[in-house]
Amino acid sequence: MNRHIAIYPGSFDPFTHGHMDIAQRGLEIFDTVIIAVSNNSEKNSLFSAAERVDMLMKLTADNPRLQVEKFDGLLVNYVVSKKARVILRGLRAVTDFEFEFQLAQMNHTVCEQVETLFMMTSPKFAYLSSSIVKEVGRLGGDISKFVPPLVKEELMRKFDQS
Ligand code: ADP
Repeated sequence: MNRHIAIYPGSFDPFTHGHMDIAQRGLEIFDTVIIAVSNNSEKNSLFSAAERVDMLMKLTADNPRLQVEKFDGLLVNYVVSKKARVILRGLRAVTDFEFEFQLAQMNHTVCEQVETLFMMTSPKFAYLSSSIVKEVGRLGGDISKFVPPLVKEELMRKFDQS
């Protein structure tokens, strides 16, 4: 069992500065953070899992301690397959809490060795979510403050297509 790895799972559709903040702060505590891109909600996502992984690979290319992988199926199975035991999640408002609490309890019940650790959002990103970025981008707003330039480019490309 590897105590030095944290798995940071999510949809990351797309990856925002808020996500990067949690990943970077995770690296202050763990040697390696694996950003695990969920493939489950493919149908509702703007970017395919492959596109999300591809963007993340580019965004993290300069930091070998930040890894990116796609996962399918049950998160705890994936965590165990990486010989890890920590799931890292971010918390913004109280509204995140109920769902996250349920998920963490469920994961711990399914697999007792897996623990979920929560990191509070940095106040400057408290309002930031992938959905709000997509909404602002779709309506033609400037999203430069919310996402890395590469993500902005890809988002603009998507919205030009639709
Ligand atoms: P999911 O679909 O699994 O909720 P998300 O991509 O929306 O995936 O989020 C992944 C994780 O990042 C979640 O734990 C979420 O709470 C956290 N997160 C998202 N945005 C922020 C933010 N602005 N600040 C802190 N944590 C965040």
